[in-house]
Amino acid sequence: MTNPQFFNDAEIVKPPTDRLNDSPLPSEAAYQIVMDEAMLDGNARLNLATFVTTWMDENANKIMAASADKNMIDKDEYPASAAIEARCATMMATLWNAPSPTTTIGVSTIGSSEACMLGGLALKRRWKQARTAAGKDTNTPNLVMSSGVQVVWEKFCNYWDVEPRYVPVTEEHPTLDGATVTDYIDENTIGVVAIMGVTYTGSYEPVAEIAKALDDHQAATGLDVPIHVDAASGGFIAPFLQPDIVWDFRLPRVKSINTSGHKYGLVYPGLGWVVWREKSDLPEDLIFNVSYLGGNMPTLAINFSRPGSQVLLQYYMFLRLGFEGYRRVQAESQDVARFLADEIAKIPAFTLWSDGSDIPVFAWKLTPGHTKNWTLYHLQNRLRIHGWQVPAYPLPDNMADQTVQRIVVRNGMNRSLACALLDDIKKEVDFLDSLNAPIPHAKHIGAFAH
Ligand SMILES: *Cc1c(COP(=O)(O)O)cnc(C)c1O
Repeated sequence: MTNPQFFNDAEIVKPPTDRLNDSPLPSEAAYQIVMDEAMLDGNARLNLATFVTTWMDENANKIMAASADKNMIDKDEYPASAAIEARCATMMATLWNAPSPTTTIGVSTIGSSEACMLGGLALKRRWKQARTAAGKDTNTPNLVMSSGVQVVWEKFCNYWDVEPRYVPVTEEHPTLDGATVTDYIDENTIGVVAIMGVTYTGSYEPVAEIAKALDDHQAATGLDVPIHVDAASGGFIAPFLQPDIVWDFRLPRVKSINTSGHKYGLVYPGLGWVVWREKSDLPEDLIFNVSYLGGNMPTLAINFSRPGSQVLLQYYMFLRLGFEGYRRVQAESQDVARFLADEIAKIPAFTLWSDGSDIPVFAWKLTPGHTKNWTLYHLQNRLRIHGWQVPAYPLPDNMADQTVQRIVVRNGMNRSLACALLDDIKKEVDFLDSLNAPIPHAKHIGAFAH
């Protein structure tokens, strides 16, 4: 019998999940099945684990729909989009205080991961060229970074045969800083990665201090080690909220910077950017010249075909918000993050790990001695019942015995939602505290991956 409300016969049967249907479904039925299943995903705006944009305005949605057919790689077919891409990259070079924005070079990517791969490859190739020119061995490149790097750097080292040298984070040195970085450096170091907005905690690494340590080291040893800044999240926060922190191209040692347009760039996924300080910081042999009708187009990418809408959306956001608009949006996210962090600090069960004063992200741990009965993983599971995703996870390597829980405040997490979240957190802490025996170990439910 056909349900008169859901009137497609095709919806009465469950389509196979291990092979194609034998015959076509009506478009409406296929649409309904897809949308119904996708409905079982979490509510994106209640996901406080992700940095990635989950809301854009109506006009942005129109641009997205109208440009879904554009392929970013087809530069001859879409020369206007290619020009917009280049313009956005120059705007970012300006935002990051490049001494001469029009002589920088930058590209869009599918996300920061691809952008980091390109940044890392440029470091490796430049190091190799210099070593080869000096008649030296090029077999054992290494990259120096904090043990708190995002997983992409581990991948980079694995995929491109570079030895990762992790500087451990400790209670005294919760991020990479100038103190010990040079202990890890030698003539085979292709560069140092500094993070503006450590994924685990939201804290900035002191890039100027790291650069100073490398300057002193160069004066003593002659080794000139470049810095790549992974500003996946902070690249769109620091210029607006902390303009006095010197972390970007104001430091001559910073040769390249990546960011995620789809994080605080406020664009839907997937969009990343990487910008080099000067064209000469990007080895020319990494650039492929693709011939097209009547010309030659330089390309630099790991992906080939890629949606073009996100680049147009980035340009839309730049025009729509301007500098002042971005400042206000990010300031609002930070206000909410600081408010939440203050309120969470007042709950005796919790001790803040970071407070949202760098990027609008903060983390806390259980106050030592508060309870033996529950962990932050239990709280994560309890909050999930209300729809909130608030991930708990261990800190990096040598602090992995410590668990933290983190909130990423994004555009759209307003005060009333924040208050609703706080109520749920307090309610669930009271509930967990009211249990008088240890709860079985909560399995990490996987809302979060480094
Ligand atoms: C998110 C993130 C990445 C990866 O970025 P995607 O845009 O998700 O590919 C890399 N580094 C840091 C510090 C990040 O926060």
